[in-house]
Amino acid sequence: MPIRVLVAILLSLSVSAAAESSPGSGVSALWAPAAATVLIVAVGLGLWGRLARHIRRMTDIESLFVWHGRAMALYAWLAILVYAAVVFVGEWPEAVFAWLPPWRGTDLWLQQRLLILAPYLWLVLITWVIGYRMSSAVRRAAEIGWGGRRPQVRLGRYLVFQVRSQWLVFLVPYGFVLACHNAAVVVWGGLSAEAETAALAAPMILVYVLSPWLLRVAWSTSRLPDGPLRQRLEAAARRAGVYVRDIIVWRTGGLMVNACVAGLGRPLRYVFLTDTLIESLQPVQVEAVFAHELGHARFHHIPFFFVVAVGGGMGMSLVAAALDALLLPETAVLGGGIVFLAGYWLGFFGFLSRRFERQSDLFAARTVDCPGRRFEGACAMHRPESVAADDPYLVCGHQAWAFTSSLEQIALLNGMAARARSWRHFGIARRMRFIDDAVGRPDRVRRYDRRLRLLKWLILAAVLAATAAVALLSGMAEFL
Ligand SMILES: [Zn+2]
Ligand SMILES: [Zn+2]
Repeated sequence: MPIRVLVAILLSLSVSAAAESSPGSGVSALWAPAAATVLIVAVGLGLWGRLARHIRRMTDIESLFVWHGRAMALYAWLAILVYAAVVFVGEWPEAVFAWLPPWRGTDLWLQQRLLILAPYLWLVLITWVIGYRMSSAVRRAAEIGWGGRRPQVRLGRYLVFQVRSQWLVFLVPYGFVLACHNAAVVVWGGLSAEAETAALAAPMILVYVLSPWLLRVAWSTSRLPDGPLRQRLEAAARRAGVYVRDIIVWRTGGLMVNACVAGLGRPLRYVFLTDTLIESLQPVQVEAVFAHELGHARFHHIPFFFVVAVGGGMGMSLVAAALDALLLPETAVLGGGIVFLAGYWLGFFGFLSRRFERQSDLFAARTVDCPGRRFEGACAMHRPESVAADDPYLVCGHQAWAFTSSLEQIALLNGMAARARSWRHFGIARRMRFIDDAVGRPDRVRRYDRRLRLLKWLILAAVLAATAAVALLSGMAEFL
């Protein structure tokens, strides 16, 4: 999950400011990345050995998927933790500032910040190499269970795919913002604090707005060709009342079965479907997955997450201000703010994200085209003559099947356990049950949408109130 790259970038930035004032000795800092490398390799080999034992004693494929999924997630977070140790204990940023001292009195961020981040990228590369071996072993074991055969993917291609899908999306904008700062420093010399903020904010906003286009370039993509599938998906978008700029095929060569929607609003809204998703699912199932992404657009989930992010920043300021008012030491104030932010993201953001996914699931099921709307007797709930009187919140058995079977298929093809949960999604099995329970009960679906709408208004009001409180507090601080 690319969120980890973001965490690593934030980690590297959080220490940069402190390290800048006290550059270290340089060479002695090299022991930290070296020790980190040894640790990550050792843990990886240990996990690989345990996996081999699991496969030998395997009773069912589902528990193997669960174990493998958890092991890989823990391993990836361990890389972050070890990198944090390199940065905080190993004094890596201090060494970087010693190697790359200020140029004509000002810092050149591009070289400095990327070098500070480099040990993390190196550690992740190791986890990918070992992760590739482990995934291959799981796939081989799973093929026995399924009785089918899947093509082997070479390590080189696997690594290139990981870099393109997980890193480029963050590193290209990050590098671009840093390069803009470099250019501003070189052209105007030292920057004032306001100019520095502008030199960072302007490219950041630009990158955020252009992100869907960036994904198209960073990933290997092409337009979904004209044909029956495209017609089917375009018809679904029309029925859903959602404008889509284009439908894009994301070429992964069998490495990923997934879909996503990108773009803050209409003009740059793209829906991405991976090649393997299109090849291995029935057209009606692809339509259901596509409609799930339309749901995210229809209910403005992406811009709303932006509001939630602003709320997190404001909440942290208020918590810090409250702790400050209690005259606590500075480290306690900072620690309190960080604890709040961690709880806010892991708890509240996760909670909201799972509800949004559920709303999109319901939307996907009720948007899928039911043959009962055209053929007499094809569906127990939809009839050709009653199209106008159709309840838009009605989910019939055919529609529920289209969506839940696609979920099940995607989980299987990705080697994901049906009962595995994540921070942002409920487990596949639970999501399937939720849709099945909604069949023939439009009132229930309507109530879910209505409750979520109310919740969004409440959150918006809370974020506005917090923003006003922060503005008021900073005004008072200036006055005093
Ligand atoms: Zn989703
Ligand atoms: Zn139907």
